[in-house]
Amino acid sequence: MGSASSGDAIRNINDFSVSARSAQSTSLRKASDEFGSLTFNEEVQRARLPKDVFRGLRRAIAHGEAIDPSIADIVASALKDWAVEHGATHYTHWFQPMTGITAEKHDAFLNPTPDGRAVAEFSGKELVRGEPDASSFPSGGMRSTFEARGYTAWDPTSPPWLLVTPQGTTLVIPTAFVSWTGEALDKKTPLLRSQEALSKQAIRILRLFGSKAQRVVTTCGPEQEYFLIDRQFYFNRPDLINAGRTLFGAKPPKGQEMEDHYFGSIPERVLAFMMDVERELYKIGVPLKTRHNEVAPSQYEVAPIFENANVATDHQMMTMEMLRRVAPKYGLACLLHEKPFAGVNGSGKHLNWSISDDLGNNLLNPGETPHDNIQFLVFCAAVLRAVNKHQGLLRFSIASAGNDHRLGANEAPPAIISIFLGDMLTDIFQQIEKAGSAKTTKSGGIMDIGVNVLPKLPRDAGDRNRTSPFAFTGNKFEFRAVSANQSIALPNVALNVAVTESLDYVATELEKQLKEGKKLQAAVKTLLTKLIKENKRIIFNGNNYSEEWTKEATKRGLLNHRTSVDAYGEAMKPEVVKAFEKYGVLNERELRARYDVAIEQYNKTINIEAQLMVLMGNRYILPAGYRYQTQIAESVAAVKAAGATAKESRRALDEIVKLTDEMKIRVDKLQELLEHEGNGEPEKHAKYFRDKVIPAMNALREVGDSLEGITPQDLWPLPTYREMLFVK
Ligand code: ADP
Ligand code: MG
Repeated sequence: MGSASSGDAIRNINDFSVSARSAQSTSLRKASDEFGSLTFNEEVQRARLPKDVFRGLRRAIAHGEAIDPSIADIVASALKDWAVEHGATHYTHWFQPMTGITAEKHDAFLNPTPDGRAVAEFSGKELVRGEPDASSFPSGGMRSTFEARGYTAWDPTSPPWLLVTPQGTTLVIPTAFVSWTGEALDKKTPLLRSQEALSKQAIRILRLFGSKAQRVVTTCGPEQEYFLIDRQFYFNRPDLINAGRTLFGAKPPKGQEMEDHYFGSIPERVLAFMMDVERELYKIGVPLKTRHNEVAPSQYEVAPIFENANVATDHQMMTMEMLRRVAPKYGLACLLHEKPFAGVNGSGKHLNWSISDDLGNNLLNPGETPHDNIQFLVFCAAVLRAVNKHQGLLRFSIASAGNDHRLGANEAPPAIISIFLGDMLTDIFQQIEKAGSAKTTKSGGIMDIGVNVLPKLPRDAGDRNRTSPFAFTGNKFEFRAVSANQSIALPNVALNVAVTESLDYVATELEKQLKEGKKLQAAVKTLLTKLIKENKRIIFNGNNYSEEWTKEATKRGLLNHRTSVDAYGEAMKPEVVKAFEKYGVLNERELRARYDVAIEQYNKTINIEAQLMVLMGNRYILPAGYRYQTQIAESVAAVKAAGATAKESRRALDEIVKLTDEMKIRVDKLQELLEHEGNGEPEKHAKYFRDKVIPAMNALREVGDSLEGITPQDLWPLPTYREMLFVK
């Protein structure tokens, strides 16, 4: 199998490797010198701000205090000077609307003076607040166009950076985006609110353990998977350009079954691309750490060192953008879709998540002393409870049309949310559970003495389980069901809210018992026993891909929302609304807006994909089928005219006619379904897409892919899987 449009691409690939090899390697500055060189980081702040302003700013950042308006002017002026010295002419308030992309509007620093010249100006007011035209960002019904006012608000906890392009430099200021009533229109605001909420509850527990910590933050290290293919192939695929994934494409003779790609050596052009991306991201302060090949052909991964979840989320958005931005320089296209190619693995984004206090302790580190152990066990059990209670919310947070292709497809965790704890931790939890329920049993003579003598936990949880959607991995949890294309903000928020509620519960229980005169150790023991008993159904250490687990999970009463359409409703469940409101993360209207936008995005995505399939059917695949039909028909006629029988050729003709006719029938069927779509409620609409349109898309694809299998290379109008994934 090959394609008519592949010639240019292959020539291009060939040319590239020649020119890359002859290129002089540019002199590189040491990575450590380069790191953060384009950010207004702590070092620059110290050097450029008056001492008291610097201290005020750092205090605000460290303790989440409000910025004193009087220092905003001074910070703005220093920031502007620094940016202008680095060549910046414009600044932008950078924000993350609910659609999960980033948005920016650029303003010049330049202000004309009466004498006809111009000076660079930037006031505290301009730093602190911006007013983009908000009307074209989705608000999930929170406001109509006539009250479209939206404000961007400076987030001092995420350092500004310089976006350098050959034509000029722009100062980028991370901001939150809110409506004029103060409601959150973006992804950052709820994330910041959820971090505050979690900190408050965690500190209550730490107090009981005698900690002096003032604040905790959630930390996060997101691993990003992606595909790279040659740009020429990309431009010849309308589906990749407009849907981000292939809607047709027969499985190549060789896929990933040889398992020869994972951790294999990285192709030269790809490595050059990766190094360039890393260098650019280092400069703007994104601490990338690892790069390697992934499981599927032409699939790769990049991961940073973990950071405060808010900064990590900004940096993750910047990473995705940089991957896309740098790829063309190397003649490549970077595909971040969850499932660009059917039949080979899709891409995920493992969200590594933990909680850290301001004294530098990771609260999910098992530690080495029994005292640390019980504090760790309390936090760990709180996460257990959180995930059990809020499976639905977590499932909602990763729902999207794209992720539906991955979850439960034997390459990513199933749609059932469960926790992998590993044998060691599971064993410890089992011991606690038993000892609590039978105080007089001296099995082993250990557990009835109290939690004090628990075995020491290993720093490394040991074994790994790649099939679990939510795994404890030594000193953090790894939320693996997150998809490659999505912002990590919502999964972070969902986790934070769920865990906050459980930390509140734990703190309240412990405080009550202590008040009644119980010792901490005893109180913890009672609480842990209860928590484990009530929530252990969420623990599963086996193979999450197996049939048996689906059955077992049903028996345990765990949720299994196979499609996103099933999962969206979880966002509006009373217990979810209550938790979001109670901890001030999102009010009901704000939460409903997320729900509305999610469904709207689902509907738009499927609608675009289905329309594209009709278009590709009509304009690419059917014409190829007709041409081939004609070729064979002419051949059969010629052979017959020459006096020979054309028995087998006739069979070939029948086959292509049958497939082409079927293609036509299925294209029309899909078109017809799309004409009947619409009207009224988005929820109903989504179900219609799921139950009617998607099956028709699948059926259409099937026949399209069969046609690909028999159509001659020079007549096939689309780059094939074999070419896109293996020619590099
Ligand atoms: P893996 O074997 O899954 O690739 P790594 O140890 O390389 O695991 O870590 C994967 C990611 O987890 C990295 O981004 C890393 O920074 C992040 N990580 C490590 N510790 C923490 C933590 N305490 N909180 C959040 N993320 C963490
Ligand atoms: Mg991992």
